[in-house]
Parts: sequence; C-alpha cells; structure tokens
Amino acid sequence: MRGNLYFITGGDSYEVGERPTWTGGNVAVFVTNTGVVLVDSMLSGSGRDTLAQVRKITDKPVTMIVNTHTHNDHVGSDAEFGASIEIVAHANTGKNMAAMDEFKGPHSTFLPKRTFTGRMTLGSGTDEIDLYYFGRGHTDGDAWVVFPAVRAMHAGDQFARQYMPIVDAARANGNATEFAATLNKARAGIKNVDRVIGGHTPTVMTWPDFENYVDFYNDFLSFVQNAKKLGRSADQAASDYRIPARYVGYYADPARVKTNVQLIYEGR
Ligand SMILES: [Zn+2]
Repeated sequence: MRGNLYFITGGDSYEVGERPTWTGGNVAVFVTNTGVVLVDSMLSGSGRDTLAQVRKITDKPVTMIVNTHTHNDHVGSDAEFGASIEIVAHANTGKNMAAMDEFKGPHSTFLPKRTFTGRMTLGSGTDEIDLYYFGRGHTDGDAWVVFPAVRAMHAGDQFARQYMPIVDAARANGNATEFAATLNKARAGIKNVDRVIGGHTPTVMTWPDFENYVDFYNDFLSFVQNAKKLGRSADQAASDYRIPARYVGYYADPARVKTNVQLIYEGR
C-alpha cells in the first residue's frame, strides 16, 4: 500500500457469489524493524498462504497479530504462526475469543495476552501502530488499527465493505443503534488517514469512501428511527428502506436490513 504496509485481500464473500474462493477478512501486513505485524488472520487454515505472501516481501518473522474483532474469519489462523506469536485485541474481543472452539484446550495459549480498552500505542516512529476503541457496533470489541507513518487504517468489520453491515448482537454483544455513534466517533477521532482497509473490501478504500459509509449508516439509522416514530412496524420499515441514490455501488441484503431494523426498534 505504502512504505512498509501491505494488504492481502480475503476475496469476495458470499454476498457476491464467490464464497468458494473466499479465505476470510482482509489482512494488513506491517513490516516493522523487529518483525512482521499482521492485522487479522482470515479463516483457519489460511496461515500457510498468508505466510507465503509475507515471504515475498520479507524474511522477518511474524511476531504479532492484532485482531480487529472475534469472528472466525478474522482470528481463524491466529494459532498458525508459531508459539511465540503475540496476539493483541480489545479486552472484550479477548473475552469473546475465549468462548470460541478455535481457542479451547491447547489453543488457549493463543488468546490475546495484551489487551486494551480505550486506546493503545504499539511501537514508535515508522513502526507505530495506534489502536482505538470507539464503542459497540459490529461486536462489543471492534478495534480501529491506525498506521500513522503511512496514513492508513484497518477498520475491521465496522467498515466491512460498501454494504449494510452485520451486527452480531446475539453472540458478540454488537449494537445496531450504537453502531452509528461508534462510526461518528471514529470519523471525528482518527486523524491523518487517507487509505482504509475494510474488513472485506475487495480493494483498498479511501478516507472519503469511509466517510461516505459513515453517512450511509447514519442515514439508515435516521430512516429507521423516523419510521418507528411514525408508528410503522419494523417489517414495514425494513421493506420500505431503499439505499439513497448518493451511495453508489452500495448493497443492502434484505435479511440484514430486516435484522438491523428489528434491533434498532428494540433499542439494541
Ligand atoms: Zn465480523
């Protein structure tokens, strides 16, 4: 992408019909002076391929994985980079990961030992990584990972791609209402970023793309809250929803719209 930051796409997910080739969420590869830091690790079984990609650019060992959140398409291969790997995540993501089969038994040593709640800085100078937490949304532990020296960010599934996001309220305490406030805080609180890796974007996005997505979700939340105020049922609001024309190329899976509308009606 720029300087010592690289991007490996996990490919398109099932929404666009390419699930057989899909390997999970996007990975950022950050080559520091002391080793390689990955952001996310895709589905389990992807470690070998990821390492082969890393080997095209450096011989340095992979020393750290920062996980954006708990889902198996982002943490699935954490245990495939050797016993000395250091896993870093938000404290709630650490708790959520502890409940996953992937981290039971001997694999519990791959649970994050270094966690944060509000903000944390790793490394310094050109190696600096800033981790931010701005509240619930996709889950209750979504980290925003910023590489200030190269003006880039990995947004995880708070900005998965240009579509209606998944809110994992059932298993990971996500929140469809707070999702908007979390996006707004990220937009206001993160400075000097111009390139953005989304959790599942097929390519690298720009900061204006991210801002456009923040507006898209805020508009969706306003639409739903307004429909509720007007006394419409959640089902009615979901079937009335149309993506505003200014969000070119966006997709809103009807089932996902329905789920998110229902959550917002319940104040969740
Ligand atoms: Zn996810």
